[in-house]
Amino acid sequence: MNLYPIWSSESNGLPGASPDPQAGRGTYAETISALLQALGVPDDYGPSRGLDLQPEATELVTARVLPDGREIRLTPEVAASWQAMSLAASADRVTLLLISGFRSVAYQRQIIERKLARGESLDQILRVNAAPGYSEHHTGRAIDIGTPGSPPLEEEFENTEAFRWLQLHAAQYGFSLTYPRFNLHRIVYEPWHWLHRR
Ligand SMILES: [Zn+2]
Repeated sequence: MNLYPIWSSESNGLPGASPDPQAGRGTYAETISALLQALGVPDDYGPSRGLDLQPEATELVTARVLPDGREIRLTPEVAASWQAMSLAASADRVTLLLISGFRSVAYQRQIIERKLARGESLDQILRVNAAPGYSEHHTGRAIDIGTPGSPPLEEEFENTEAFRWLQLHAAQYGFSLTYPRFNLHRIVYEPWHWLHRR
């Protein structure tokens, strides 16, 4: 499903596995597994939904500073692709806004804990938020896109000029939609969420 190196759910490091630089993989898988358990997420969450473990980005640059000072960060490659794409859209008089980028595993955990504390069911939460360790935002390669006049992170984004433009041109910049309507991951339709796959 993903064309870039990922923490595969099958790659739990076996004892005595070769001492290559990837030998730490098991550690990440184990950390995530413990985290899922603490949140009450079923152990087969990833495999049962066809979701792969997503590594946290190690190199990030600031792609946008929000008015409140928060920074949206992406990998250098994806930040460059985003910039090229948004400039091309501007030239076509379409405004694309970067709403979110990198999100850490720790932050994803907080989001879910906050919703649980508010009384939302885990089932409902997991239709909207990936479990920690499984969000494409961990990689710094996923972006949420908005446009003026359309509420952020709402399905009606699909009715905007921005979405129509993305459908025609995003692939040229390496971006594709991860969660189309009726996707097999049991995640809601997210017309705003695009993953860079190059
Ligand atoms: Zn997203």
